[in-house]
Amino acid sequence: MADIAGYGVGDQPVIGRIFLVQRNNSDAQIILASLTKEESLAKLTEAIQIVASDFSHSINSSKDSTLQEILSAQLAILTDPELSSVIIDSINSGAALSSAIDSAINDFTSLLVGGSAEFEARIADLKEIGSRLIDAAAGKSRKLQFPTEGEWIVVSDDLSPLETSQFTSAIKGVVTRDGGPTSHTAIVCRQLRISAVVGCGDISKLLSNELITLDPADNAVYLGERTIENSGPWWKQLPIQKKSIFRPLGNVGSVKDADLVRSSQAQGVGLLRTELLFLDHKNEPSVEEQVKIYSEVVSHCPDGEIIFRTLDAGTDKPIPFLGLGKEENPALGLRGQRISWIRPEFYENQLVAIRETGSKFSNRKISVMAPMIANKEEAISFANSASRLGFDSIGIMVEVPSIIEEISTLPENIHFLSIGTNDLSQYLFAADRQNSSVAHLLNPWQPILLKTISRICSLSKTRGIKVGICGEAASDPLLSAVLIGLGVESLSAGAGAVSDLVAISQVLSPSQAEAAANIALNSISAIDAQRSVRNLLTSK
Ligand code: PEP
Ligand code: MG
Repeated sequence: MADIAGYGVGDQPVIGRIFLVQRNNSDAQIILASLTKEESLAKLTEAIQIVASDFSHSINSSKDSTLQEILSAQLAILTDPELSSVIIDSINSGAALSSAIDSAINDFTSLLVGGSAEFEARIADLKEIGSRLIDAAAGKSRKLQFPTEGEWIVVSDDLSPLETSQFTSAIKGVVTRDGGPTSHTAIVCRQLRISAVVGCGDISKLLSNELITLDPADNAVYLGERTIENSGPWWKQLPIQKKSIFRPLGNVGSVKDADLVRSSQAQGVGLLRTELLFLDHKNEPSVEEQVKIYSEVVSHCPDGEIIFRTLDAGTDKPIPFLGLGKEENPALGLRGQRISWIRPEFYENQLVAIRETGSKFSNRKISVMAPMIANKEEAISFANSASRLGFDSIGIMVEVPSIIEEISTLPENIHFLSIGTNDLSQYLFAADRQNSSVAHLLNPWQPILLKTISRICSLSKTRGIKVGICGEAASDPLLSAVLIGLGVESLSAGAGAVSDLVAISQVLSPSQAEAAANIALNSISAIDAQRSVRNLLTSK
């Protein structure tokens, strides 16, 4: 029985001493409250310079491209003249520097609520920038000095990308109180191949300098030293199969992702998140501009099928040209394909631009799919628009549970389904994907999610339509065996996880996949499912 349980990232057990990150409640607010207007303005300029130089330094010294990308995005927000002008305006109207920074950050974040994991990450970025600016203006250093010798496990409420970028080679593991399967820390640790257990809730038992053992494969943290058996990745010892039983694909949201997916030998792109290409666009891109942007990304993608997803924005600022309003519950509001109800011309133009892009790449199969489809009427409307524009590979995402029972009677011009497990879990379990207090319900090993995927697969069989998965669930190498056993034909993982998926596609046998699916479906909890499947696949 684990002393502390969370969500494990990676499969290597590690032992180390605790490096406890203690965040002292800064008295920065009190210091900044006594400044005059002129002093506040001068301190703001100084603070922006200090924090920008911290970011630049970390970007230059980081060797990991994902981390560099995250830090560069933060630096761009920090130096955005719009942010400083909002802060300056409120100082000029009498606010203290810390309140001016806080309220500017709140304004920006309230516009970002309700999107995908990337938007969630941007909110964390903004908050991090705000608190760093306040500390820098008050002359407080936020630098963490990680040890450079020995073997250490960092324990913290959560970690920012700037902090993870300062990890030394002595950092072997991470434990966090907050965060879930798709949090920044989880993504970065996966990328850096550092074992982690995130979203543990109460971590008060973990004391500075004590020895602990992490077993991420079992989502567990143990006090003290433990021997954990680990024979390495489960698929490493298996013989190569004559024929692969699924297509390993990758998710792409940038040219960098496309490069990584291509170099990992994926057979195509299962999800091209087009909204990520427009986060910084203030004006609506013309069809020609879109063709240019898409063509650049496609030219870096692997050969094979590329599934473009139409714009999946929320009511959020990162797509400013859509001019959407604010909503109380944006995850339940106008997001994804629903925006075409009020901006049909943008969606029509986007399909035209995707078609034009496809015509320039004869070696690629260009498919399109729509997110957030809730009923047959919406599915038909999208498929008819895409068919009219000449697409012959058209799909819809299955991420709103209401569409599931319509699958067996979907029309002929819908050729494939792609399950978005991130949103499917959110809507199935009524668990906000941005709220780490309910992150355990979003664990993709939840047997009910797996039963739902199984139901989707059997209804699709009745209709004779292929199903893939493009949510985060596809990035878990152990779970991939289960998902294939449930009947999906392709898995599309986050760019950093594609190489494992490719290796698994070469060795996974139908009988292993079927056995893994059966065990997981009959488990009583997510943890039980994961443990049983691990035992099955690692037993000789
Ligand atoms: C999903 O919901 O699983 C999905 C792939 O879409 P996104 O994460 O972009 O909402
Ligand atoms: Mg989604």
